[in-house]
Amino acid sequence: TISMAVFDHMGHIAVGTSTNGATFKIPGRVGDGPIAGSSAYADTEVGACGATGDGDIMMRFLPCYQVVESMRLGMEPKLAAKDAIMRIARKYPDFVGAIFAVDKNGVHAGACHGWTFQYSVRSPVMEDVQVFTVLP
Ligand code: ASP
Repeated sequence: TISMAVFDHMGHIAVGTSTNGATFKIPGRVGDGPIAGSSAYADTEVGACGATGDGDIMMRFLPCYQVVESMRLGMEPKLAAKDAIMRIARKYPDFVGAIFAVDKNGVHAGACHGWTFQYSVRSPVMEDVQVFTVLP
């Protein structure tokens, strides 16, 4: 899965997700990719979030909606991401997944469970893409 958040020059934020879905998925499966708030969510007034991992579990928690709403209440992206992952892990200790969070100022973070996660960031003031590694 590739989930992406983009900011335009006016500060509008949008998200999108592309995925080939789960391995050995049954025909007709609808994963978390097209579920707003699960694999991605954005609110220009707050920030954005994207997710990857076991969509069949993650979609039950709308983790990206959770992250944006936590940031709306003042939580830092790092804590909001960690909190959303831990809400899932408490119920599904074996789940594998990750999310990134970015606030409207561009402060970003990731959190993951069951694997090491990498996400990349690029902004006009950066010379190149920077890759961030998040340990579980
Ligand atoms: N979230 C995707 C799904 O369950 C899989 C992935 O992230 O690779 O469809």
